[in-house]
Amino acid sequence: MTKSFKLVIPAERSERLQYMRRMFPQAIGAPLSEDWRGGRQEAQKRINTVDVDAYGRNRNFLNGSVSRLSPYFRHGCITLKEASDNVRGRYGVQAETFVQELAWRDYWRRVWYQLGNGIFSDIEDPKVALGDKLMPDFIRQGITGLPCMDGIIRDLTLEGYVHNHGRMWFAAYVVHWLKVDWREAADWFENYLLDGDKASNHLSWQWVASLFSSKPYYFNKESLSRFTGDKYCANCKVTCPFDASYEQLKEQLFSSAAAAPAKAHRVIMPERISLSTHRAVAIFVHDEMLSSAHPLLRRSMPKIFVFDDILHGKWPLKRLQFVADCLSELQDVETWIGDTGTILKERGVGQVFTQDTPNQQVKALLEPFNTQWLPETKFAETEVSEKRLKRFSRYWEKVGVEFFGEKQ
Ligand SMILES: Cc1cc2nc3c(=O)[nH]c(=O)nc-3n(C[C@H](O)[C@H](O)[C@H](O)COP(=O)(O)OP(=O)(O)OC[C@H]3O[C@@H](n4cnc5c(N)ncnc54)[C@H](O)[C@@H]3O)c2cc1C
Repeated sequence: MTKSFKLVIPAERSERLQYMRRMFPQAIGAPLSEDWRGGRQEAQKRINTVDVDAYGRNRNFLNGSVSRLSPYFRHGCITLKEASDNVRGRYGVQAETFVQELAWRDYWRRVWYQLGNGIFSDIEDPKVALGDKLMPDFIRQGITGLPCMDGIIRDLTLEGYVHNHGRMWFAAYVVHWLKVDWREAADWFENYLLDGDKASNHLSWQWVASLFSSKPYYFNKESLSRFTGDKYCANCKVTCPFDASYEQLKEQLFSSAAAAPAKAHRVIMPERISLSTHRAVAIFVHDEMLSSAHPLLRRSMPKIFVFDDILHGKWPLKRLQFVADCLSELQDVETWIGDTGTILKERGVGQVFTQDTPNQQVKALLEPFNTQWLPETKFAETEVSEKRLKRFSRYWEKVGVEFFGEKQ
């Protein structure tokens, strides 16, 4: 068990980043770059400058006007509702494409609430043959020999951010060309992301693989070259595995062996610890609620955040630094490293208030306590049936109406 101790996060940024490096010597990857200051203030700047017109035109291009807000949503610095209210207030119905993209996050999250740890295993039968190979070292080291894939891996490991199209290409390459087990690849990928989110990540990998969609996602050189502005292809000297028509690729990638049978995925859950007999009441601040505007943080009770190995043990240094930025904007939040159950008990806590989450690991950590799970701010009020949750289009058919009315 990790020894617990309290952190004193410096107010000054460069000191803060160095402090986190010292406190987490085992954390992998490069430090947080200047472009990614964590916290609500930065999130608000970003949402105020989103240009939904440009977004609608060029979001699929690598250099398109995307918001780069995902790490801020993931850590609760800003809610999807705030973002949707902001852009609809500024642009009205023209904001539809952007709001629809926000809705993908809400959609995956609803599926996570519905399926719990089921999102880590095949949700449906695959529609094409999938492989179960281990992740090759050349992927981990970013030396695939393909400038496009190496570039994506560089973005991932150095910056912790990859454009959505890059994520789709990479996942398709790993799952369909290399026939790697999607679950191993998804776990590895998430470990480097600043916005690493179990639902958006694992369910997107399942979507690419055809385990939560009606067909596999794949791409060809022509498409990659167009949406990257020829960034990688212009000087590429290798024999390109993507240089073919969709028909040829379909034949090449999917015509062989039958689909591999579904396998279960192992999720590391905390050991069960005995019920707390203490009486103190505290707010447990988890890593999805790091906003100074969070209603729970206004309550006058001790507020406790814990960097716990169960949740954060595999996070890269840059993400821990991003979270430290977020925490530095919150008032009176005690920050600890160690085992959540032990720390809360040592603080005499028996009852906990916190924000609800579909994350079963957080739920298990708080099991020994009398925990009140307060609902998170909803993106949309519309309820969606289990059946509709099977596909985004069916979900959006219902939810989109709440924002933009019935389609004529
Ligand atoms: C294989 C794969 C893995 C992914 N892993 C993650 C992950 O761990 N965490 C994560 O937040 N997103 C993940 N995504 C979704 C998406 O790629 C990112 O949310 C998006 O690229 C973030 O960049 P942005 O903020 O500039 O997005 P923008 O295009 O500006 O979109 C605005 C917001 O809408 C939401 N959004 C847009 N597209 C999606 C989408 N397809 N799925 C879910 N939400 C979306 C995000 O919250 C995003 O911040 C993954 C996608 C794929 C294909």
